[in-house]
Amino acid sequence: MGHAKRNKLVFTVKDKCRVCYTCVRECPVKAISIINGQAEVISERCIGCGNCVNVCSQDAKVFLDSRQSVHNLLKSEDPVIACLAPSFPAEFSDFEDYKQLVGMIRSLGFYRVIEVAFGADLVAKEYKRLLDSNGGSTYISSDCPAIVFYVEHYHPELVSHLAPVASPMVAAARVAKQEFGQNAKVVFIGPCIAKKAESDEIDEAITFMELRIMFEDEGITKENSSASDFDGPHPKTGAIFPVSRGLLQTVNRKDDIVEGNIIVASGKDNFKEAIREFEKGELAMNHLELLCCEGCIMGPGMTTCDKLYTRRANIGNYVRNKLSVLADENWKNDIEKFENINLSQSFQAVDRRLNRPDSDEIERVLLSMGKTKQEDMLNCGVCGYDTCEEHAIAIILGNAENEMCLPFAIERLHKSVQELNISNEKLANARQALRHSEKLANMGQLSAGIAHELNNPLGVITMYSNILKDEAKQGDPVKKDLELIVEQAERCKNIVGGLLNFARKTQVKHSETNIVEFVKHSLQSIVVPKNINTEILTELSDFYVMIDNDQMMQALTNLEKNAIEAMPNGGLLSVNVKGDEKNVEINVCDTGTGIPEEHMDKLFTPFFTTKEAGKGTGLGLPLVYGIVKMHKGSIEVVSNSNPEKGKTGTCFKIKIPRYN
Ligand code: ADP
Ligand code: MG
Repeated sequence: MGHAKRNKLVFTVKDKCRVCYTCVRECPVKAISIINGQAEVISERCIGCGNCVNVCSQDAKVFLDSRQSVHNLLKSEDPVIACLAPSFPAEFSDFEDYKQLVGMIRSLGFYRVIEVAFGADLVAKEYKRLLDSNGGSTYISSDCPAIVFYVEHYHPELVSHLAPVASPMVAAARVAKQEFGQNAKVVFIGPCIAKKAESDEIDEAITFMELRIMFEDEGITKENSSASDFDGPHPKTGAIFPVSRGLLQTVNRKDDIVEGNIIVASGKDNFKEAIREFEKGELAMNHLELLCCEGCIMGPGMTTCDKLYTRRANIGNYVRNKLSVLADENWKNDIEKFENINLSQSFQAVDRRLNRPDSDEIERVLLSMGKTKQEDMLNCGVCGYDTCEEHAIAIILGNAENEMCLPFAIERLHKSVQELNISNEKLANARQALRHSEKLANMGQLSAGIAHELNNPLGVITMYSNILKDEAKQGDPVKKDLELIVEQAERCKNIVGGLLNFARKTQVKHSETNIVEFVKHSLQSIVVPKNINTEILTELSDFYVMIDNDQMMQALTNLEKNAIEAMPNGGLLSVNVKGDEKNVEINVCDTGTGIPEEHMDKLFTPFFTTKEAGKGTGLGLPLVYGIVKMHKGSIEVVSNSNPEKGKTGTCFKIKIPRYN
């Protein structure tokens, strides 16, 4: 009789979800998927236990709100019966007298208010009958709908073990229909979310939480409602059911052997473990009394979730007071009156277990999270799954993401930080290079201006001093002075020429050039002292490059001259030409003195020279730099000037693209 209603029970408020994976961890059936960092309840898998609602610190999980439907029922013609769950004294501890609460429920428009606890009395009797006549069968209690859903979906082979007995709620509904007419509508009010989907014999189910809001919405208070007692039939010990160790125990057979073989388990981990052991046959001789929450008084539909023991005490007090005024005779009469009620219940196996993906695939996913060996399987549970393997399976099934793995995420973060550091460094270098070339450009402009202005007067000085020198007679002391003037003027001209070279804005005239021949030629056009050997090394297959011959010759000879000047005691000048399809590299290396660390960043600055006056202008390297840049190339220096660190020497590496 009666079937489950398949409602979507729990929803995620996406804006509030902060992806802590607590709901995944607490969900006993892993009915929560994380997609793009958002938690989503998979309603086909959900058993309505409400754990996720309880544990979410952000209130990002909400359950189905049935208030409007109840409201609609109350507005209809049919009488509506409220069935109040026996856990109500635990919720409504702010009421001095339960009759105030009953009065308020009536004020909402309910025709009658009865206690589900009477249903529990009937059901307890039925369990007793079942256990007395079980003929060796063992049962799993079926009063907790979340447990029933769990068995139906995740242990379908055990469905035949579910006690074929209606829950107290359904029993109470059947009582209500018999008592108040088949057209009566039944609304269950209790601490449970799963009840909303348990049975189509219940028209609606709301939680205590929703009831309180309904009072508020309608402005119903203790003061403006008149207190009244429950309508009959009145319960006896069934009222203690939410704090007793379950229904089977409510049967009250302390001296019976049955008591010895009832395993009571409550809470999401315990009930699963009990079922697992039961299924394996380890508990074959035992009945299972299972509750998904730590007793119904800890249900997710209660307004607060603390004070377990105060709640127990409240229920105890309520039942004690009730029993003190209950006439046993009346109760017996009521039980007899409803003896004919059918208390049977059938259950349906609907297998929702997921197929395990094949091991290769699991391994592949584990690998993608950097888990290659057994030690990498930390099974830390941060992702919400007990093991790395379960997490990998959930990823394959599309219910989880690898970012949920904390060690993996940290590893990735480290990598990103490292990459960021590298690009920061690159950025700093680029900025320095930019500043440098800006400086060079400014210097270039200035030098061009000065050089241009000096060039003409210098020409005049050179010309006239040469004339005077030629006219001066041999032996005339003036002739020596004039020779000095000519020599120094010549030097000035060289400097000015260098400046003009450095600053010129000529374009690059590319022509296809055999670079190895070109390098040979460059070495031939400089004076190489006897104590210096030269060599050309090449690892090129294609010798041809597009370069401006004049400019590149200047650049190369400048580097070669510098190299020679760095080897006053002789050495080796070696030019190595390398490259690939795109670029050609020319390395001009010497075994000279090397460049001290502190000079490195000044090398390309105009007028930087360490050579004595008259020897160096400090314009060679800036010129080389300009020319290389004009060829869209780059220049690097590697040098060692410290004999303690190894052989001294310098390598200037020019890299230019073959084609522009
Ligand atoms: P200059 O040769 O007129 O001094 P450069 O611009 O050509 O000007 O070189 C600047 C300075 O760089 C040189 O004075 C020298 O200190 C240093 N330098 C350049 N090339 C080398 C090299 N191959 N070995 C050692 N020092 C070098
Ligand atoms: Mg030089």
